[in-house]
Amino acid sequence: MVSLKEEILLGIYEEFEKWAEQKETICAKSCAACCTQNVTMTAVEGDLIHRFIRENGRMEWFAGKLQKKGTTQRPEMTTNGFAATCLQGEDVAPGSYGNGDACPFLEDDCCSIYGVRPFSCRCFASEEKCMPGAPAVIPESYLSASTAVMQIIEHLGQGEYWGNMLDVLLALSDLPENRKYVELLPASLPDQGRAHLVKALPLPGFLLLEEEMEEVSPLLQAIFAYRIGERSIEDILNNR
Ligand code: SF4
Ligand code: SF4
Repeated sequence: MVSLKEEILLGIYEEFEKWAEQKETICAKSCAACCTQNVTMTAVEGDLIHRFIRENGRMEWFAGKLQKKGTTQRPEMTTNGFAATCLQGEDVAPGSYGNGDACPFLEDDCCSIYGVRPFSCRCFASEEKCMPGAPAVIPESYLSASTAVMQIIEHLGQGEYWGNMLDVLLALSDLPENRKYVELLPASLPDQGRAHLVKALPLPGFLLLEEEMEEVSPLLQAIFAYRIGERSIEDILNNR
């Protein structure tokens, strides 16, 4: 059964997709230079991916992918940690954003877990075709909107794992519902994943400038108003 957190996550994905459809980018199917191992996510996004793999009986295939860890960048601060530091008026040292190896879920230039890919993959977009090794030209409205949505997703997963996608997936691979991985993966891998992770933090406030609010607030309103049964996402996140 899909958990309440996963239902909220799917609602957030749905509203972001509706918002993003109205924006013009050059991104297209089979354009995949952005598909590296630098993707970050929360545990709830990992739960959704593991559920998809279990329900489709692809655990052996997936266990092979989880062992393809290569070069990756690991941010030291979560998005909400970064926001909290900025909102306190403290300086944040710039991170290093080097290349990562290709994502193991990329097959024939397409994402093999497309329907359940993490939010970091959903919000990545460029106004110009990316060249390998060069940064994407992310539209400003995309950047501010996606940062705000990432903050909400991290808030949803507060207290749980946050970090590199493959590390989170490995850390979740020895949960009881994923126990088949215990036979399929080297025993030390879940701990190796956990060693690189930090905890997701609650939302300290958004990092939106006044001029960005006009563009982003319809999206945030749609997310907060999204209904799951009798309650909106806003009610659920505020324990009402
Ligand atoms: S972000 Fe860049 S590499 Fe990724 S789909 Fe868009 S244009 Fe292609
Ligand atoms: S999960 Fe899919 S969309 Fe995300 S980086 Fe990997 S191949 Fe690309």
